[in-house]
Amino acid sequence: MRIVLFGSPGVGKGTQAKILCSKFNIPHISTGDILRSAVKEQTPLGVKAQKAMNNGELVSDDIMIGIIKDTLEQDKCKKGFILDGFPRTHVQAHVFDDMLAGMNIHDIHVITLQANEKEIITRLSNRRACAKCKNIFTLPEIEGLKKCPVCGAENSFYQRDDDTEEVIKHRLEIFREATKPVLKHYEAKKKVIYIDALGSVEEVTKRILIALKEKDPEQVSI
Ligand code: ADP
Ligand code: ZN
Repeated sequence: MRIVLFGSPGVGKGTQAKILCSKFNIPHISTGDILRSAVKEQTPLGVKAQKAMNNGELVSDDIMIGIIKDTLEQDKCKKGFILDGFPRTHVQAHVFDDMLAGMNIHDIHVITLQANEKEIITRLSNRRACAKCKNIFTLPEIEGLKKCPVCGAENSFYQRDDDTEEVIKHRLEIFREATKPVLKHYEAKKKVIYIDALGSVEEVTKRILIALKEKDPEQVSI
């Protein structure tokens, strides 16, 4: 199973990706997580990416394409993958298509999660992550909790640097201008599956699985 999870910041890509990758036993490749850990370690990549990320800008296509190329060539991606956060521009989409063609891969599903902007802004402002297990929560879900309900880490919740009101607005602008148009490219190839991202996490997962099963009955059990 090869999946691209597409959609605005805050629509729930990371949450759904985590569930789907354990269901299908394929790696979750989150470009945001890769960049954030590079920033944390202050690797040369992290140093280059940090400013753009904190300002809600995109990291350069060259850097992103390099990361994805290195990742997809790894053995762990041979049986499939879930891409979360890539491709995010036309250039990235075209290079990605060439990469897949070069690997003789034609069966990708572009799952597009959809929600209105008001909901997105609320989710992003209330988003918290666990520093240890990287799971994502939304207030008031974890209000007052001292321990992470998933991994038990103490005082591990934090808000991302780019989840402040001003930066959120800018990320949404960039999504509208640079990223959303990429969908047209995949629509033309008939690869896009639209999913309503409102409702509970479980409901959204179920919608995704039902839609995937229609496309690929042999690989999906619900
Ligand atoms: P979100 O989808 O919530 O905005 P991500 O965790 O996917 O967050 O990405 C965080 C930041 O990392 C982005 O705002 C951007 O700066 C950078 N980034 C991630 N993926 C890409 C990409 N494919 N191209 C350019 N920049 C990216
Ligand atoms: Zn945790």
